[in-house]
Amino acid sequence: MKRKMIQTSETWGCSDCAWLFIPSPGPPVGRTFEEMKDNFRRERDSAFARHNCRKYPRLEKCAPLAS
Ligand SMILES: [Zn+2]
Repeated sequence: MKRKMIQTSETWGCSDCAWLFIPSPGPPVGRTFEEMKDNFRRERDSAFARHNCRKYPRLEKCAPLAS
């Protein structure tokens, strides 16, 4: 199953693990609102692509999965 990015109430997370996107601190980068959105999306997407699901185990997955 392919992991997906999911939106939570505060940020974005991974559908397969407990990873959450933490935006870099400081004001958004860009001269226009569109640029800021683009930069934010790029940063978020690359952080998502780089993270390793095995490093962010989900606590609730400790329960045995019914198959
Ligand atoms: Zn993940």
